[in-house]
Amino acid sequence: MSDDALLNSLKEGFRKERREQVEGLRRLAEVDRRGLWKKSARSLNEFCCKELGLSESSAWKRIQVCHLGVRLPYALELLEKNKITLTNLSILSPCLTAENAKQVLEEASGLGRFAVEAIKARFLPRPEPRDSFTPLSSRTPRASSSAPEPSPSPTKETSGEPAAAACSEPPEIPITRVRISFVADESLVQSMNKVKALLGHKFPNARLEDIEAEVYRFYLEAHDPERKKTKATTRIPMKSAKHTRYIPVEVKKEVWRRDEGRCAYRYENGDRCTSTYALEIDHILPFSQGGRSDKVEELRLACFLHNQMEAERIFGKHLMDKFRKTKPQKSVDSPSSLCSPG
Ligand SMILES: [Zn+2]
Repeated sequence: MSDDALLNSLKEGFRKERREQVEGLRRLAEVDRRGLWKKSARSLNEFCCKELGLSESSAWKRIQVCHLGVRLPYALELLEKNKITLTNLSILSPCLTAENAKQVLEEASGLGRFAVEAIKARFLPRPEPRDSFTPLSSRTPRASSSAPEPSPSPTKETSGEPAAAACSEPPEIPITRVRISFVADESLVQSMNKVKALLGHKFPNARLEDIEAEVYRFYLEAHDPERKKTKATTRIPMKSAKHTRYIPVEVKKEVWRRDEGRCAYRYENGDRCTSTYALEIDHILPFSQGGRSDKVEELRLACFLHNQMEAERIFGKHLMDKFRKTKPQKSVDSPSSLCSPG
């Protein structure tokens, strides 16, 4: 099958799936109208879970949208045309009326869930809850999803402990998990997303907890008075720069500024990638082939995917697989720390 034929058949498959999904929602509304779910369940929701094998949240979304389709058939037409997702329709359904549907759905077209929730909040504002810290049950520390952190050092020696205990694995100290919630401006969310993208190497599956902890650690490293007292004052001498992987800070900044903090990789059709996820500074001519680290024009920003793709293109997948095995999951603090192995 040619590439074009493959892409076309994939798109057609999804169009068909979408048509069938909408048809299914219309039938579900009719099943509800006739009360047919009463034959085997106590509610339409239970019917969807038991008889159709849906999860509770899928059932809830479909029920919202099938009822919406009865009130506003136009909404299902948009779903069928792929102008809006089922999830976004289910979020907006309580605030849609015959008067506002067209305008609101047009505005929501192509937006992510967060932006759609914001539209809903305009119609159905909720009072802001206060900041809260709720202790949850204690449990043993979770395996870190990131670079190893200094293990908590609970090993305060107690004279009466049996010797065997000292030799075996240190006991895991339960930690209390706390649910933190607060309301913030949208600009904070934007900053969080930016930091999350920058930390993509270190925390590929970052949770908010990882991002927050990293930001606080960074701040405390610089400003914690206790730490300042004990911090060693020795500095590592900078390598004299001839042909070196070391990229001077000014050069990094300039590459970052020129590429506007986005991946500069270009696809075959000339479009630029522009991802902000896990950016790295990439040697356009590989370092091993003479690429310079001190010349802005020889460097560019590349997202992790495109840096790896370029490296595989130049060095081959086999060599890159070997390289990755010898440098497993190295965590990097700055986008520049991981350049192509060139
Ligand atoms: Zn990219």
